[in-house]
Amino acid sequence: MASSDSSKTYDLLVIGAGILGIFHAYHALKRGFTVALIEQNKMPRSASTRNFGQIVPSGMNSQWQAYGRRSLEIYKELQSATDISLRPQGSIYVASDQEELGLLEELSVRNKEQEYPSQLLTRQSCLQGWPALQPNYCKGGLFFRQEVSLDARVAAHRIIGLMEEQMGLDFFPARTVIEADSGGRLVALRAADGSRFSGMQAVVCNGSDFQKLFPDIFRQSDLQVTKLHMLRTAPQPSQRIRSNILTGRSIRRYESFRECPSYTAVKAKEPTDSYAMRYGIHILLTQNEDGSVVLGDSHEYADAKNQDELGYEIDNRINRFMMEEAMQIFKLQSWKIDSAWYGIYSQCKDQDIFRHSVDERMHIVTGIGGKGMTASPGFAEAQIEQLLNCAHTH
Ligand SMILES: Cc1cc2nc3c(=O)[nH]c(=O)nc-3n(C[C@H](O)[C@H](O)[C@H](O)COP(=O)(O)OP(=O)(O)OC[C@H]3O[C@@H](n4cnc5c(N)ncnc54)[C@H](O)[C@@H]3O)c2cc1C
Repeated sequence: MASSDSSKTYDLLVIGAGILGIFHAYHALKRGFTVALIEQNKMPRSASTRNFGQIVPSGMNSQWQAYGRRSLEIYKELQSATDISLRPQGSIYVASDQEELGLLEELSVRNKEQEYPSQLLTRQSCLQGWPALQPNYCKGGLFFRQEVSLDARVAAHRIIGLMEEQMGLDFFPARTVIEADSGGRLVALRAADGSRFSGMQAVVCNGSDFQKLFPDIFRQSDLQVTKLHMLRTAPQPSQRIRSNILTGRSIRRYESFRECPSYTAVKAKEPTDSYAMRYGIHILLTQNEDGSVVLGDSHEYADAKNQDELGYEIDNRINRFMMEEAMQIFKLQSWKIDSAWYGIYSQCKDQDIFRHSVDERMHIVTGIGGKGMTASPGFAEAQIEQLLNCAHTH
């Protein structure tokens, strides 16, 4: 942790140490720029620490899959420098009926065209490789061997630590930036505790916090927030689950499948009034190193300007529904739930991400939606290249 030094002028100030902010800082440091990363909490604790940690480019549309694939390389590179909790275990999508199986087959064809390796698996191979799957549920699968998972409780913190120790990052936790002025030759920031920062450029990666900086810009945007319910089991006594598991409703939901020829027809047949639909529930599962299993999730939405409408409660009816669904899909040794929480991320209604330059020095990047853990390292690399190249030509 750095102590704030108002006399220093950084090449880049990054506000918000979620995964997007972290990787903007990372790529700027890699290019030799000086960076201050400023976070309002003692350590990040928002969406970037509350998720499954599934790094799954397989779920993304073609444009974002490319960022996700680059992210896999970056995460693997980081893991070779220090333990960021990466587990190279792959991801499997499990179909529960013929329509979902058809979508898996179509995606595997697209993957071949895009040279992204995937392997179609028969029902029998799935049950052999993943004995936790319920035989009545599983009709076949598609496996992505190269994909990974992270333990979201620790990954962001460890990457920050690595950047401080090995890359010269100045990290300023517990500083809520409440004023940002880029009207002069430099960007000037002031935090609630009185700390001041100055830099040539600033990137605001505020996640779903729309109150402190530029509230008018966010109020007029098409940003919305999404609340997701999550559960974690006690460590499984001896059961080990080989990979990220994504199931039928994920196949019907994820963007990669929207590019498949039969997607529209499959969706047209779905009931629109089920409980699962109302709360956007699909079942994903990832096992952590300690044997605990992260299970989720649900989706409830509100406009950024009406964020309070989401409420602060954990709804046990949603959690029970997710558990009952999950039990139809997997056999876990223990269904004892150690922890329940919700996470919130922001996303745009009509775009893949929210990018807005207040002026040539101050840039807002947020609203990456449900793909942030997967896409941020690759996406931020492209952003930094563009941003710092532009800055140097001015
Ligand atoms: C339950 C859940 C499960 C998910 N699962 C996955 C998954 O498996 N795979 C995947 O790819 N993605 C997943 N996602 C999506 C992913 O977690 C998000 O896309 C990503 O974490 C967003 O990162 P962010 O940096 O934009 O936002 P955040 O993580 O919200 O970080 C923003 C940071 O900015 C700080 N901040 C804001 N304003 C200020 C200020 N004024 N001053 C200082 N600091 C400030 C906040 O404190 C916060 O730390 C999931 C999300 C959730 C909620």
